[in-house]
Amino acid sequence: MPLDLDDALNHLEENASDALPIAGATDLLPRIKRKQVSVRNLVDLSGLQELRYIKQEGGTVRIGALTTIADLEAQRNDSVWGRLLTDVAGRFGSPNIRSVATVGGNICAASSSEDLIPVFLVLDAKVKTIRRTGTREMPLQEFLVAKRKTTLHPDEILAEVSFPEPSARSACSFQKLGMRNILIIALVSVAVFLEMDEKDSKIKCARVAFNRLRGKIPQRAENVEKEIVGKELSGQTIKSAVDRLGDELALTSDFRASAQYRQEAVKVLLRRALTDCQQKILGK
Ligand SMILES: Cc1cc2nc3c(=O)[nH]c(=O)nc-3n(C[C@H](O)[C@H](O)[C@H](O)COP(=O)(O)OP(=O)(O)OC[C@H]3O[C@@H](n4cnc5c(N)ncnc54)[C@H](O)[C@@H]3O)c2cc1C
Repeated sequence: MPLDLDDALNHLEENASDALPIAGATDLLPRIKRKQVSVRNLVDLSGLQELRYIKQEGGTVRIGALTTIADLEAQRNDSVWGRLLTDVAGRFGSPNIRSVATVGGNICAASSSEDLIPVFLVLDAKVKTIRRTGTREMPLQEFLVAKRKTTLHPDEILAEVSFPEPSARSACSFQKLGMRNILIIALVSVAVFLEMDEKDSKIKCARVAFNRLRGKIPQRAENVEKEIVGKELSGQTIKSAVDRLGDELALTSDFRASAQYRQEAVKVLLRRALTDCQQKILGK
């Protein structure tokens, strides 16, 4: 087991043709057991304490890739982003899963059902990657190429996710629908970020993201965002956002739920998320 980042990067470089990093193992191990992944060497990152942190620096929030979901749940930052992350983490898997599953593992799993991906997309997150030959930084949207595919090189690890601290005139909401409340992969989930203008009268910036898209990673719903920017945050605006959603999203069909069911559910979740943001902004 690597003792520090240098050691982990050496292991990955030496075994790049047949090695994968592993962190909490809550995604990779079940996939290895189901024979969906075959690999000779696992480089265990779980001891890398230097990549386990949540910091605020000059208007930017930085979260180390080895930060666990339980760490997100336990942080008590009383801000727009702090409350959002506590809320998302508190509904993630179960306490056992949260104590080992990591932020980096959630992003690198790049599946259609990960909770943190839509959340970080609406927070306008960037990711930082490291390999022996240097570091790279890019928007999360560029890092995620397709379902189960990222721009990571075989000898590279995700080190950090960062995002600009949302202003006091903003609000966020995460809505998730599952068959039950714990230990469940979402049937569909929606994340929303809204920022009001200086007079708190019109929506200055809107970011909306969904998961469970057919064959894809979670992504932004740009038509919905365009529909509401510049408008008042009223019941009419919320209705037009939900109407605009229409067929923009091709949701997946599987043994858990049909695409048609998800299509209806997502409208309800979007309405709830926007109404939640409206209440948070009015309540300030
Ligand atoms: C019972 C159960 C419930 C679950 N509930 C939820 C839920 O509610 N919401 C949700 O979103 N997910 C859920 N999951 C899925 C899983 O727990 C998450 O995706 C988790 O965040 C994965 O993190 P991990 O550290 O365990 O990743 P791992 O399994 O260790 O790794 C996942 C992938 O990422 C790669 N990887 C990990 N860390 C790095 C890194 N730093 N750099 C480069 N590559 C890396 C690995 O090579 C692997 O391909 C659940 C899983 C189970 C088994």
